[in-house]
Amino acid sequence: MRSLHCSGIKMAKLTYPRYSNLCGWNAMLPPRQPRPSLQQDLTVDYAIIGAGYTGLAVARRLHELNPDTRIAVIEATTVGEGSSARNSGFTGSDVLPRNASIEMAEKARIQTGFFTEAFDWLMSIVRDNGIGCDLKQAGSIRGAATELGEASLRNVLEVARANKIAHTVLSRDDIHRRIGTSYYRFGIYMQDTWLLQPAALIRGLADALPAPIQLFENTPVTAIRKSDGWVLETPNGVVKCKKLALATNAFIPKFGYLKSRMATIYTYAAVTEEIADDRIGEIGESAAWGLLPSHRLGTTLRRIGRNRVMVRSLYAHEGELDGAYAARKLRDRFERRWPNLRDVQFEYLWAGTTAFTMNGAPWWGQADDGLYASGGCNGSGIAKGTMLGRHLAELMLGFGEHDKMAASMGTASWIAPEPFRSIGFNVISTLESRKAGLEM
Ligand SMILES: Cc1cc2nc3c(=O)[nH]c(=O)nc-3n(C[C@H](O)[C@H](O)[C@H](O)COP(=O)(O)OP(=O)(O)OC[C@H]3O[C@@H](n4cnc5c(N)ncnc54)[C@H](O)[C@@H]3O)c2cc1C
Repeated sequence: MRSLHCSGIKMAKLTYPRYSNLCGWNAMLPPRQPRPSLQQDLTVDYAIIGAGYTGLAVARRLHELNPDTRIAVIEATTVGEGSSARNSGFTGSDVLPRNASIEMAEKARIQTGFFTEAFDWLMSIVRDNGIGCDLKQAGSIRGAATELGEASLRNVLEVARANKIAHTVLSRDDIHRRIGTSYYRFGIYMQDTWLLQPAALIRGLADALPAPIQLFENTPVTAIRKSDGWVLETPNGVVKCKKLALATNAFIPKFGYLKSRMATIYTYAAVTEEIADDRIGEIGESAAWGLLPSHRLGTTLRRIGRNRVMVRSLYAHEGELDGAYAARKLRDRFERRWPNLRDVQFEYLWAGTTAFTMNGAPWWGQADDGLYASGGCNGSGIAKGTMLGRHLAELMLGFGEHDKMAASMGTASWIAPEPFRSIGFNVISTLESRKAGLEM
């Protein structure tokens, strides 16, 4: 994760997230009063663009290490409507990649050390501020529906054993008992996964920011330029800062940085209506469960609250899919797994973004003079975004030692520009979809 220096003035016409549907997790919560948008010019020491897990970790850590410094977080939407709320709410500190091989065990062990530090920090913030986000150490099932999926999970099993990660091997019947579907032939139950309500967590983290940190919601940054530090333009005010952090994940390339390192990928989630009490047995006997797929294009499942199911699946490059198409595909995933619940409707359906990187590694570091960025935390942003954001704040202050962390995470490799990128995405997703088969 090396520095990427550009020179001269930067002025870009920016796009920021505008989703067609509201976030279901946010809609299931009581309304929250957002912080006011920026209505005047402002000068601070540090500005952070993006109030997701990464941006809030940067802001909190800067304040922890240097309480007198002036910090502002600028968020385009309301907290609870960004991807930090739109996710499936799985988190934890044990690192066990989906395509784990025994050679990766040592690397995973080192990464786990960094994740544990950040995860414990996050949990202490949740505890100290009484953030109610339905947090449970419910564990998670890695599930395989196909022979290929099972073979891949057996590799994961070896790494779990080598790294002494608490787990239980599950048969088809075990999985059926827990989650009510006999769709999966093999599974591994990982004890150290926490399930939570992601909109409640990110809202809680924003509302618990120490008072000197200023947060402006509904304030899209429309342009940035270098001028004795950095100048950020927003619809009703200009922010001047000495140092700037881009914590916008999939939207970092829209600022003109890391365009050859990451792409914006949309993925979808849907939540059913409440399932009637007399049919609740159809979603298994575990009061809380989550299932992660054995293939990267596979489907994630979760029981939500007492009587709803969440289905997360589908990918699109740089833009949302047609809404009716996305709904049809997610329904197909749900009905294949629970044919007896075919009449249960989806109450919520939404898209969210992640920053895709070719080799799965994030990009973290200094991208220009006084400009820092962290993105590409993909499907594990709750813990990884927090960890990388915390380290980014320290880097901005010239504090701490980050080489070991950076080396263990690797750095996002080069991705071809358009039109090759879109062609590549379509080819790879067609081939991988075939491979994933019923894991989708
Ligand atoms: C459907 C889905 C399921 C997922 N499941 C999981 C899971 O179970 N566990 C997990 O850990 N991760 C999961 N993820 C990934 C996780 O949500 C991301 O990794 C995480 O949100 C990244 O956090 P972040 O703070 O880096 O970026 P984001 O959460 O994307 O935050 C960036 C913020 O920047 C703001 N922004 C962008 N452009 C501008 C601008 N111009 N001006 C001002 N603000 C701007 C955005 O509005 C956004 O709020 C999932 C993601 C999706 C979409």
